[in-house]
Amino acid sequence: MHSCLRCSQGRPQIDRRRGRLILTEPARGPLGFPRVKAYQLLRAPAWFNRLTSVARTILGVHCPVRIAFVRSTCGAGPFYVLGLGLVIIGHDDIEQIVNRIMTTRLRPVSDVEAYIMAMMEPARLVRRNELREIVRLCVIAHELGHALALENELVFTSRLASELFADYCSGLVAGTVGVDPELCQLMFEAIGCVGAFCTHPSPARRVRAFLRGYSEGSEFKVLTA
Ligand SMILES: [Zn+2]
Repeated sequence: MHSCLRCSQGRPQIDRRRGRLILTEPARGPLGFPRVKAYQLLRAPAWFNRLTSVARTILGVHCPVRIAFVRSTCGAGPFYVLGLGLVIIGHDDIEQIVNRIMTTRLRPVSDVEAYIMAMMEPARLVRRNELREIVRLCVIAHELGHALALENELVFTSRLASELFADYCSGLVAGTVGVDPELCQLMFEAIGCVGAFCTHPSPARRVRAFLRGYSEGSEFKVLTA
């Protein structure tokens, strides 16, 4: 089978009249029912197309990837749908990550849009727009990392390992573009999983995977400059 076919065998269902993307999750367990979820589609803004194309080029994802920009994934966070080759990223998900970083890691200063990075010595100023742009890039690159893994038939020993690979890909893209690694690190700390029932790696492991990719990406940047 051609590698691109493996990535997207099905077609996502679109309710054009209501502008919604419909996904059916297979039943879990013998008594489970398939679950149908609807996501409100939004017109993709310019930044979405721009950052997607940057991440695709750097990672070398050559199969077509369907990328949907939706209002919200209702708590699921941005995700990649195996079998459909579909990335779903919610406008509200990005904002939630930005807000989480600002409320847990930064402290507001008098200027409404500027925040002080509380954990950094010496303290430095962070602007919401700058942080948002970085979260957008890192999230999109992470999801395309999943697409890249599938396209190349990478087999992971666990779900956590596949997430770490996607974080590493996010680092490759961020390092090649040359965005601020400290802000990226804040993001992976904020979205790392803590607790007993984690589907994603811990903050420390996510940061490590990201930074490994980042340093490789930075070298590539130097070589191609
Ligand atoms: Zn992931």
